[in-house]
Amino acid sequence: MKTRRPLIAGNWKMNGLRADGIALAEGVAAKAKAAGAALACDLLVCPPFTLIADVARAVAGGPVAVGGQDCHAKTSGAHTGDVAAAMLGDVGCRYVIVGHSERRTDHGETDAVVNAKAVAANAAGLIAIICIGETEAERDAGRTIEVVAGQFHGSLPDGATAANTVIAYEPVWAIGTGRTPTNAEVAEVHAMIRAEAAKRLGADGARALKVLYGGSMKPSNAKELLAMDDVDGGLIGGASLKVDDFWAIAQSCP
Ligand code: PEP
Repeated sequence: MKTRRPLIAGNWKMNGLRADGIALAEGVAAKAKAAGAALACDLLVCPPFTLIADVARAVAGGPVAVGGQDCHAKTSGAHTGDVAAAMLGDVGCRYVIVGHSERRTDHGETDAVVNAKAVAANAAGLIAIICIGETEAERDAGRTIEVVAGQFHGSLPDGATAANTVIAYEPVWAIGTGRTPTNAEVAEVHAMIRAEAAKRLGADGARALKVLYGGSMKPSNAKELLAMDDVDGGLIGGASLKVDDFWAIAQSCP
């Protein structure tokens, strides 16, 4: 039996105007409310910055949490276009994604930058969802374990705990492509992350740490992925934009 309650997190990325986001959030909130105590997972939606306040209002009082998709490492100041972690908390976020591969690629975010963002998130009382994962070239070169372990240690703050941090293993080549690693490949990486986590958080901390899988998770493959011992939920992009798909994934939790 799994001891960690799964987390099913939707990363809406740069999608949706207010009406879309509110309708999506209300749809998920209604399903969650109807499921009540039968809900086998924690639920999270991460809308674009512009929708966070509206989405937080739409899900208020229910089990669906709200998160940001990024935050700045600093608390305030001359950082045009950026958002501080406390600002996310102020509009209702409990979580923030940091180090998503699209941020690492589009904005050149290094492990050190991601680490600093996770520190800022935790300082503001937010749970940091730290994303790590290899590119296809790195996998083809047999470097997956080395690369993901390096990102894990580089991106994880010293103050990380199982209560303030979630890890999301997202192979870059699986994001938005419809391709997924084999079960054996997912199991190998997740087991490695937990083993490395023990070196940083201690055995109990590593046992309690949630490690999500992300990358083309959808209703048709969620049950198999979520059944794996070290997979504690999913970070879902495309399939989180449809209430029925996101809900079907949530219902696939063991
Ligand atoms: C993601 O962006 O975190 C993600 C996993 O996307 P998708 O589910 O679309 O592959």
